[in-house]
Amino acid sequence: MEKEMEISREILLKYPLCDSCLGRQFGLLGFGLDNKTRGESIKTVLVLESYKNFIKDKTSKNDLALLEAIAINGMSEFARNSLKKLGFTHEKSEKKCFLCERLLEKKNLLKFVSNAIEKLKNLEFQTFLVGSVIKSDLIEKEDTLRATYNISWGEALKSELNRLIGIMIKEKMNKETDLANPEIVILVKPNENNVEIKINPLFISGKYCKLERNIPQTLWICKNCDGQGCDECGGTGKRYETSVSELISEKILQKTQGTDTKFHGAGREDIDALMLGSGREFVIEIKEPKKRYFDLKKLEEEVNDFAKGKIKVINLQKSDKDKIRRIKAFAQFSEKTYKIIVELDSSIPRSKLDEVEKYFSGITIKQRTPTRVLHRRADKTRVKKIFALKINILEKKLIELIIKTQGGTYIKELVSGDDGRTKPSISEFLNMKLVCKSLDVLSVEEK
Ligand SMILES: [Zn+2]
Ligand SMILES: [Zn+2]
Repeated sequence: MEKEMEISREILLKYPLCDSCLGRQFGLLGFGLDNKTRGESIKTVLVLESYKNFIKDKTSKNDLALLEAIAINGMSEFARNSLKKLGFTHEKSEKKCFLCERLLEKKNLLKFVSNAIEKLKNLEFQTFLVGSVIKSDLIEKEDTLRATYNISWGEALKSELNRLIGIMIKEKMNKETDLANPEIVILVKPNENNVEIKINPLFISGKYCKLERNIPQTLWICKNCDGQGCDECGGTGKRYETSVSELISEKILQKTQGTDTKFHGAGREDIDALMLGSGREFVIEIKEPKKRYFDLKKLEEEVNDFAKGKIKVINLQKSDKDKIRRIKAFAQFSEKTYKIIVELDSSIPRSKLDEVEKYFSGITIKQRTPTRVLHRRADKTRVKKIFALKINILEKKLIELIIKTQGGTYIKELVSGDDGRTKPSISEFLNMKLVCKSLDVLSVEEK
């Protein structure tokens, strides 16, 4: 510690430093002692040492100078009282700390803390993180000081400020700090004498079934008026009256008092297709929620009441951002089973349908982006696996196909061929034009 004491001695002779700022220069040495106590201890040891030396040798100017520096620059009452005992009186020091410029003084910290608490009072949260924006000249001053005195164990001013405010808020509000996934970020801006609150999004995951046709997964803006409302869309600004995401979001947004929602689905079914079975995974991202803690089972009932049988949600759960990535990746590899009703030009003998079943079960197909989605998807070729195909004859010219495929397969195009963009196709195999009457997703395989 001899080196650290020598550095402290030199700095205090030159600069006014509060206990925290002195202690912070050695903040990374050891653990479990706050910088203020560190700084105070260093000053105490220096006072004891120079006091003892001065008693022994009353001509020792250096020791007297150090005592005075600690009393004035160090703002130490212990040094001031010790000097008084030796016959040197000094006014109580009110110097401004060279490094933090009073930023770390308790009354300043309390000001930021009460500002933050005021802004947080109507928000429901359990975890938070404190960040801050510190004037660059304060940071530069500290960097220069550390370079001059070769200090390598110093902690950053910013991290001390964040921690001190964090501890106070934690105690006053009975909340927890969370570095990785805080619900709330408190941004302290000493320069603007202000505190900003950032509310991180809330993620709720679940599965949905779509029980009525002609509902898109997400809001479909009217192209004609760009959402402004026109005759074509009946003034709604929407191409379809509602969507899966709107039906799910409405009650969730109400409950959480957020500002907006974003819907993330594990793939999507066609607008005219039903989504049956155990449903399709989704995540709803709620921006700036004021409420986070509520009964999810009850919310599920409210969503389903509101959707009036058009869709149904199940198993609503608290989730996280990473879940979005996981369900998107999963959608590409999961196995999906579809039911598709197909109209034929003329009847086909059962033996021929058996050939179709045999040929397409276990085959790999190549699909270029379908013509119908080219306006919103890049034109590229996808290779997809068809696991199984089963055909039932419903009427003379009406058949039902049960197809199990890899996620992301365009089923209508597998049937129709899409003018040769999907190869091979069932239409091509039968050499017959096939018309899809309806398409349903029967299940999404869990893996
Ligand atoms: Zn300071
Ligand atoms: Zn319109």
